[in-house]
Amino acid sequence: MKAALLTAPGRMLETRQIPLPSPGPGELLVKVEACGVCHTDLHIKDAASFPPGAPEPLILGHEGIGIVVDRGPGATQIPIGARVGAPWLHDTCDHCRQCLTGFESFCATHRAHGYTVNGAFAEYVVVKERYAPRIPDGLDPVLAAPLMCAGVTAYGAVLKADLAPGKTCVIIGCGGLGQYAIQLAKLTGASVIAVDASATKLEQARALGADSTVLAGAEAGGQIRALGGGDACLNFAPTAQIWPMIVEAINPLGWVISVAMVSEPVPLALDWLTYNGVRITGTSVGTRQELLDVLTLASRHNLRINMEAIALEAVNEGLERLAAGKVEGRLVIDYRATRK
Ligand SMILES: [Zn+2]
Ligand SMILES: [Zn+2]
Repeated sequence: MKAALLTAPGRMLETRQIPLPSPGPGELLVKVEACGVCHTDLHIKDAASFPPGAPEPLILGHEGIGIVVDRGPGATQIPIGARVGAPWLHDTCDHCRQCLTGFESFCATHRAHGYTVNGAFAEYVVVKERYAPRIPDGLDPVLAAPLMCAGVTAYGAVLKADLAPGKTCVIIGCGGLGQYAIQLAKLTGASVIAVDASATKLEQARALGADSTVLAGAEAGGQIRALGGGDACLNFAPTAQIWPMIVEAINPLGWVISVAMVSEPVPLALDWLTYNGVRITGTSVGTRQELLDVLTLASRHNLRINMEAIALEAVNEGLERLAAGKVEGRLVIDYRATRK
């Protein structure tokens, strides 16, 4: 099969033919139709070393969708020919507190496609049957691929925000995740204020249902206040510059949900927290059930984000554009184009 391999950390991916993997006990072999390209792929590629326990070389990609073509021993629930996903979670330990209480994406020993096991930047990928979501009929694989990470992550953030009709949700960063979050937050009945540094992205946000839009900058916090403030602020922008705006914009008892990876510290005055009762939490992808739910929502409500299909051979160019911030929508590898 053709695969894009990370042969050494920091290198460009190398596309070449490698032997077809065979599914082990409880595993499925999936012929990949589409795989989204995520910022996390970039972080993994540019890290100083391979992830702990990862195969070397490593196949990246954790937003895969494809058709089951073979089953390993004991994999009997999902038939050959079914369409399934290869999402971030490959499997989890199944016995820690997080796994047993419905927070499996926080399992400290979870394994992930394109990180600790091979992912879907290849024509075939091996998934665990128990962790592979069935894809509803009628969802196009290219359009649905980003749901495997971006979509379920946005959904997990919206679920944690305690939204309801009458409440206001501030969505910061209107790329792929933010675009999913706008549509999902609107489904709760809440009003949405979208924030981005790009006027074009704000126009798109409005087209996807945002009630108000605010251009990011020094004035943004005050403008959100003037609109009534936010009962939840969901941050999808990978910068610490958003923090003063969040502090100004969030209403008492509001939820601040951290999604984007911001490694720079932000100043937090504890008396502010004491006085306002603001709640701060983070979220990372989602559970298997949340993934199934967001797939159903996507097929019922036509969830859509800007998307650009590319061939597997163009993945390096895509990753470079992603690093340079030159990608308008989500990049999705379309294997129909690759196989032509
Ligand atoms: Zn991702
Ligand atoms: Zn666990």
